[in-house]
Amino acid sequence: MTYLDHAATTPLRPQVRERWLAAADRVGNPSSVHAAGRAARRLVEESREQTGAALGVPADTVVFTAGGTEADNLAVVGGFRARRAQDPDRRVVLISAVEHKAVAEPAAALADEGAVVVTIPVDRSGQVDPTRVKELLAEHAGAVALVAVMWANNEVGTLQPVAELSGVCADFDVPLHVDAVQALGVVPLQTDLATTVALSGHKIGGPPGIGMLVHHRGAALAPLARGGGHESGLRPGTLNTPGIAALAAAVQLAVDDRAAHAAALGELRAHLVAGIGQVVPDAVVNGDPAGHPGIVNVGFPGCEGDALMLLLDAAGIAVSTGSACNVGIPQPSAVLRAMGADVAAARSALRFSFGWTSTPADVDACLAALPGAVQRARRAGALSAPPGAGRTR
Ligand code: PLP
Repeated sequence: MTYLDHAATTPLRPQVRERWLAAADRVGNPSSVHAAGRAARRLVEESREQTGAALGVPADTVVFTAGGTEADNLAVVGGFRARRAQDPDRRVVLISAVEHKAVAEPAAALADEGAVVVTIPVDRSGQVDPTRVKELLAEHAGAVALVAVMWANNEVGTLQPVAELSGVCADFDVPLHVDAVQALGVVPLQTDLATTVALSGHKIGGPPGIGMLVHHRGAALAPLARGGGHESGLRPGTLNTPGIAALAAAVQLAVDDRAAHAAALGELRAHLVAGIGQVVPDAVVNGDPAGHPGIVNVGFPGCEGDALMLLLDAAGIAVSTGSACNVGIPQPSAVLRAMGADVAAARSALRFSFGWTSTPADVDACLAALPGAVQRARRAGALSAPPGAGRTR
């Protein structure tokens, strides 16, 4: 199988696996006071120190969670509730139109608690304009509880101007949450630009089910769950000691290898984009070409992305459509729609994503399978189109 879906999850790195298994073989709850518990606690705190040092933040600003989704929920819901408790007028949540569901859905659910969710538009490349954010903050002056804008988009790879957004939010004294799940290990992360930053293990060669929220010490956050004082009262539950040890190793590797890794991904990306241009000349690359070097989103006019994905799967190539399938009905990608794509274009896209195991041979295998799959997907699309229906793009 040729795996080109690293943005969904990437294989465990061997050093991380070693650390994970070694920790899993040791008994001890970090909250227990006996020797086994103390040893587990030591491993957790050493891992927290290593993670903080690798990210350039104090160790006590790292809260371990069960992945990126939980970290985003803690930042958005916990951040909103804490800010609102301090100041009941803070009801507005500003989020970009291209956020992952881990941010967008909890934000939308806050409407039940009286929140007003305002969407920050993006341009055709998927980027927010800091000036627009400034205008929205001015328009809702004194009412904004938090702003959420992701670092690197998971579907199209576009990077956001986090440094500028950080300055704009600071001017209005509004917390900024940044989902950096796809950015870690690829983009130089300056985590202190944001009030809170969500990260995930399985996108960087760590195991799934472990992640973290990095928060400024002064960040207002309320825990989402109750049941113990773990993680400074922010995240109750017995700590996932093996996952935390593995995450620390994965973060260290991601930071240490970042420049070389990004360069290698960039070469694969260039190879794929050039190759697609030759084998499917009318394909359209979506997103900012200067974005995440390991994520390539391509529209194939006349194809349903889902059909194409399944045809490639049958040929042994694993890629993804960015959009979710709702009860078997393919949905156009909300990200591409927000970027101005029409429904047909938004449904015609595939995401190819590279990781640390990717090779030029993977790209060649994909390029060899693509023309046949596109041809068949187009034929299937033409057959299922209602009589008289023309191409909509
Ligand atoms: N945020 C982004 C941008 C993602 O791509 C993902 C995973 O797809 C998540 C959050 C969720 O992370 P996790 O799978 O660790 O819950």
